[in-house]
Amino acid sequence: MPGAKRRILTIFGTRPEAIKLFPLIRKLAADSRFNSRICVTGQHRGLLDQVLAVTGLVPDHDLDLMRPDHSLGELTAALVSGIGEILDTENPDCVVVQGDTATAMCSALSAYYRKIPVAHVEAGLRSGNIHHPWPEEVNRKVIAAIAALHFAPTATAAEALRQENVDPDSIHVTGNTVIDALHAVRGRIAQDPALVDGLADLERRFAGKRIVGVTCHRRENFGDGILGIAHAVRMLAQRPDVAVIFPIHLNPNVRKVMEAELGGLENVALIEPLDYPNFVHLLDIADFVLTDSGGVQEEGPAFGKPVLVMRETTERPEGVEAGTARLVGTDTTRILEEACRLLDDSQAYAAMARAHNPYGDGESAGRIVELLAGLNYPAPG
Ligand code: UDP
Repeated sequence: MPGAKRRILTIFGTRPEAIKLFPLIRKLAADSRFNSRICVTGQHRGLLDQVLAVTGLVPDHDLDLMRPDHSLGELTAALVSGIGEILDTENPDCVVVQGDTATAMCSALSAYYRKIPVAHVEAGLRSGNIHHPWPEEVNRKVIAAIAALHFAPTATAAEALRQENVDPDSIHVTGNTVIDALHAVRGRIAQDPALVDGLADLERRFAGKRIVGVTCHRRENFGDGILGIAHAVRMLAQRPDVAVIFPIHLNPNVRKVMEAELGGLENVALIEPLDYPNFVHLLDIADFVLTDSGGVQEEGPAFGKPVLVMRETTERPEGVEAGTARLVGTDTTRILEEACRLLDDSQAYAAMARAHNPYGDGESAGRIVELLAGLNYPAPG
């Protein structure tokens, strides 16, 4: 259909997907070659809505599928059938998914069932262990088996796809759109510093202390892992020179433990999840970050902030190889040792605190748009 606009349906459901997709969605919306539509699944309702509010993205469809007691199987079933109905209504030329969530995997599967091409943003991340991160490692592999276009953030990710016999012509190293998102948000903060007033009270309360940012939410850390992290934070916060700012994930498996173990401590601020600009500001004011998050591992290096990754493996080896990230697991003693080393050994700190961007240059969304424009779409019918 020469001249016809490409109908692109972008589907997402969680905070990290929304953060990493908004730069691309904005570019697609501004480009006359595309008719860009958005479907959200609401897989992480509250956290997703925070990003929609900050970015001004307005979904064309909202499946609102989140249920507090969903098992993974129930979530998967609801996603595949809910997304399938949207695909039947929209009949897009291409479905865009991001990362490794149940939403991304089920969107790819639903599109595959309808022979609609899938483009995968942030393709090729592999830990090599299907149980860490769980179930995301398998979600990614399922998407890789289906996608027509694989947007690998790094050369390492592209190589992982080639190792799995993905057609090399369908793999493109684009950088990670998270860096585009960071640039966009930093630009907005520079124009309107009031956007990051959310931490002003804590900055006053903790003036003169060394700020440690903490996040954790990984499913495979639920139970002993979360407890190990909580104890490490508690011990770290006994130091008078340290203040911990810890936006707690809404998941009750994290929230209940952290509130019980860390609530009321003088040097620990347990706070609600921050909107994206305020979280970016936390990265700015923190000395270093303790996290099990994927996205924060990518953002920390861009700020030159050491990232202690509370996981045993990572599918983002670039930060570790470059020396800004270190895997520390969830053992209390190990986390505490590594955190104190950064606090007490200025050389060790300086070696990790080096701003660089192994994950992208802030131009990834533009590259992806051009690749989507060039995709050989199947003829209708
Ligand atoms: N983030 C945020 N507010 C917070 C904590 C994190 O906006 O209070 C952002 C963070 O900057 C990163 C993303 O959320 O871009 C990471 O999401 P999450 O850790 O939930 O998921 P993962 O990246 O591990 O898939």
